[in-house]
Amino acid sequence: MIKLAFSCGAPPDPSRVALILVAAGRGSRAGEGLPKQYRPLGGRPLLTRTLEAAAACPVGRIVVAIHPDDAALYDEAVAAAAPQARDKLAPPVFGGATRQASVRAGVEALAGADFEIALAHDAARPFFSAQLCARVIEAAARVGGAVPGLPVTDTVKEVDGAGRVVNTPERARLRAVQTPQGFALALLAQAHERAKAAGREDFTDDAAVVEFAGGPIEIVEGEKTNVKITEAADFAAAEGRLLAALPDIRVGQGYDVHAFGEGDHVWLGGVKIAHPQGLVGHSDADVGLHALTDAIFGALGDGDIGSHFPPSDMRWKGAASDQFLAFACERVRARGGMIAHLDLTLVCEAPKIGPHREAMRARVAAIAGVALDRVGVKATTSERLGFTGRGEGIAALAAATLRLP
Ligand code: MG
Repeated sequence: MIKLAFSCGAPPDPSRVALILVAAGRGSRAGEGLPKQYRPLGGRPLLTRTLEAAAACPVGRIVVAIHPDDAALYDEAVAAAAPQARDKLAPPVFGGATRQASVRAGVEALAGADFEIALAHDAARPFFSAQLCARVIEAAARVGGAVPGLPVTDTVKEVDGAGRVVNTPERARLRAVQTPQGFALALLAQAHERAKAAGREDFTDDAAVVEFAGGPIEIVEGEKTNVKITEAADFAAAEGRLLAALPDIRVGQGYDVHAFGEGDHVWLGGVKIAHPQGLVGHSDADVGLHALTDAIFGALGDGDIGSHFPPSDMRWKGAASDQFLAFACERVRARGGMIAHLDLTLVCEAPKIGPHREAMRARVAAIAGVALDRVGVKATTSERLGFTGRGEGIAALAAATLRLP
């Protein structure tokens, strides 16, 4: 065996730790439809949740290995993530046909940068804690390789091709291992090179690649909650757990009016619509996004759009209103909550909303980081009655349903 060259010591500064998120699989066991890492879990893509959990860990950079067909899905999942999660993200790399090839692509992307420790984590494990990650980093720095594991409570049988038992390993010596798995980056890179040179592409976890190369691995205590979401039933169970942790259901309402004035377009629901008049306001006067923003503040019991973005503040002059809505949604996430539903009604004689409805739903869903089926946009006239009926302005009503811890 050729000697492996890597150094051990104290855990490095987080800026020298990188995390590779493995998200290139097709997820066929989870049933038909989107690859499982992009399916919504509690209204947000699974990958978005895993990415946010990873970003909360003491790591300086996150690189996601994705399937080449999934670039658009990846962009959507990233756009739905909290801004601080996006701050640590490097450009994605294209993974390979196997988990091992995907991690190798991530390791290659880290080459040349000043990282001491690399972690590999499954995109399908959104529930791991920053404490677990810190334990793995500490042991990986000290030993070279570390994986989280739990004692096995079921007795495990080894079988032959015919399903006949050939061996019963001693249970006390078994551990069921999880991710994130952590390694001295130099060790992991050498191990992957050796496995590739030997034509071995069949390792199902990163520790096995390092073991093959003769590297040391220590088991650290895993987490029972750090489950891997593999099958459709796992999604249902995870969803149930998420929702059970958010029992405080609240509905907020918002209302806003802007008057027509000079101009050649209006902003409504985050969409620019050509119109012979504009809407008058300090910001872009998007009456729809303003009502939605206030509905969220209302449900949070957290002031209103005027208290967070005072018209007296010149920063908001002509401002795009998507930032107001994004801010309100961030306040929900900061409280550990989720947006269950957003509903908007626009009241006007013109412009016609119908042709723009789907674009508005998509825009609101993207700003709020929720699935499209959790956003409603409706329109009505007021039968030529009142200020909206006379075409003097547009009114908007909104409701937001939130779930909080
Ligand atoms: Mg307004």
